[in-house]
Amino acid sequence: MVIDTHCHIYDTVFDADRDKLICQSKDLGIEALIMPNVDMDSLKPLISCAQAYPGFCIPLIGLHPCAVNANYKSQLVEIQSHWDTITWQGIGEIGLDFYWSKTFEKEQEQVFLEQIDWAVQKQLPAILHNRNSLERCLELLENLEHLPELVFHCFGESYEMAKRCLNLNTKVMFGIGGVLTFKQSHLRETVKQLGISNIVIETDAPYLAPVPFRGKRNIPPYIFETAKLLSESLKMEIYDVYRETTKNARLIFSNLD
Ligand SMILES: [Zn+2]
Repeated sequence: MVIDTHCHIYDTVFDADRDKLICQSKDLGIEALIMPNVDMDSLKPLISCAQAYPGFCIPLIGLHPCAVNANYKSQLVEIQSHWDTITWQGIGEIGLDFYWSKTFEKEQEQVFLEQIDWAVQKQLPAILHNRNSLERCLELLENLEHLPELVFHCFGESYEMAKRCLNLNTKVMFGIGGVLTFKQSHLRETVKQLGISNIVIETDAPYLAPVPFRGKRNIPPYIFETAKLLSESLKMEIYDVYRETTKNARLIFSNLD
């Protein structure tokens, strides 16, 4: 019924109750959890989780911009050494993050472009993480001849920026999560202007829990809080929100069961 398009369910904070949460998620009507990677340390638990819950916990491979350091070339080689470990269904999460640090700005850009190229070569979609960096990210993408299909994860920018994303020469979706439920969120306006046709929903669990769970550990079942707010913002029936966002997720992640 719904797909959580961005979920770190393999994170160690779920070690004690992961199985319970996955059963609960299935019972509630969640069809799949898309799992973007973060760094070298997260890769092993991510792979184990994908193997333990095949077809439900969907593995993506990539290096998060905040994990990029001066040794980025060997980081990429190490990530790539896992190409054949499992069937990857996307590249992520990748992008630029100039909020936490600009120390490795140039390195982040190199790593981002290299991974965009992997996605193009492998014909896989990419999940993008951007913070204080969307402008630069778009500049880079606008200069490329070939692009993979893209999800702008945790999108929180204006409608004007969203339009620039949509003008890229590829299929684009915006990942909307708990931030939509925060009281001061201007995102509701953007979402209204966007309409449902380019929206997928996500939790980013264990981060960014929606209201009324804000500040707590986020879990996949909380995705229904975001769906509820989306239905209110768009004045759509909740079941239409489930159906349309799932359809959108499947347009990007076309190999799901
Ligand atoms: Zn994430």
